[in-house]
Amino acid sequence: MLPKAVMEQAQSEFINWQGNGASVMELSHRGKPFMQAAQQAEQDLRDLLAIPDDYAVLFLHGGGRGQFSAVPLNLTQAGDKVDYLVSGAWSRFAVEEAQKYVQVNEVSSCVEVDGKISLPPAAQWQLNDDAAYFHYCPNETVDGFEIADLPEGINAPIVADMSSNILSKPIDVSRYGVIYAGAQKNIGPSGLSVVIVNKALLGKRRLETPAIFDYALQIEHESMYNTPPTFAWYLAGLVFQWLKQQGGLEQMQKLNQQKSAMLYQCIDDNDFYLNNIDANYRSRMNVPFHLADKRLDESFLTQASQQGLLALKGHRSVGGMRASIYNAMPLAGVQALTEFMQDFSRRMG
Ligand SMILES: *Cc1c(COP(=O)(O)O)cnc(C)c1O
Repeated sequence: MLPKAVMEQAQSEFINWQGNGASVMELSHRGKPFMQAAQQAEQDLRDLLAIPDDYAVLFLHGGGRGQFSAVPLNLTQAGDKVDYLVSGAWSRFAVEEAQKYVQVNEVSSCVEVDGKISLPPAAQWQLNDDAAYFHYCPNETVDGFEIADLPEGINAPIVADMSSNILSKPIDVSRYGVIYAGAQKNIGPSGLSVVIVNKALLGKRRLETPAIFDYALQIEHESMYNTPPTFAWYLAGLVFQWLKQQGGLEQMQKLNQQKSAMLYQCIDDNDFYLNNIDANYRSRMNVPFHLADKRLDESFLTQASQQGLLALKGHRSVGGMRASIYNAMPLAGVQALTEFMQDFSRRMG
């Protein structure tokens, strides 16, 4: 979900944006009003994440998956080696895409220990000394698997797919080479991806790199080599302002901790519900759970939606339920869900 205050602001200025007599959707991306909003959005994102000056921020098309190809096409030459950690569905997809362009070494992947999904300790990972970069997905949206701390012992530049946990807590941007995120999980509407890149890493792009995915070229053109997704960019800017008003990322971290703890507590307290992720890796953003009796899945979803509890169906590859509790989800929303879950288990158990 998006913050209600942001949706209301967008609604109120939809037809006549900032007194321009037109919608932001109707204005040129090169006109002064949009350029100002675009720059403000970048500045607000820089403030929120404390992005150092030697990092560029790009607002591009192509979602998270677009970056699965843009990363190898900007950071490697054919024949280079790269390291990928596979911790779930999205990092697996990232590997499959990167394999088209470069030699991918799978460093490690998730294992089941005592019925719980976990990750072997970093000491057991097969890291390449000459990897051009190390790629991982700090929050696996489908699996509900989050790697809270940066992996240890990595010498190569670290590339992180933060599509589903960017802006959920403060991070030290300087420890990453590239951070990218499709916007539609924790930022704004779909159609936009945000890329934060250490400029020192550029200069390796290939002749065949598509211009719209060429980081250096897009930096030169301030993300406007082609027409950017203006409405999504504008709306992302409103979300950044909203985050600042909420007290920034420290505040989000607190809230996200509180929300997810409440939901996992509800799951753990009741045999009726199961979550099979090692407690060290449970996601604060996406909480998948199963009903002990799968035959009740359908009733669970129907009755939940009757109470306004929406989008709880698990990803088709995992089944069961999944509650995505991104920044914009208030504590009261999680409270309503846990109360429903307790009530449902009493009535149906
Ligand atoms: C959703 C998601 C993607 C893919 O995003 P698209 O915008 O659909 O390409 C990639 N990585 C992660 C972690 C995601 O959650």
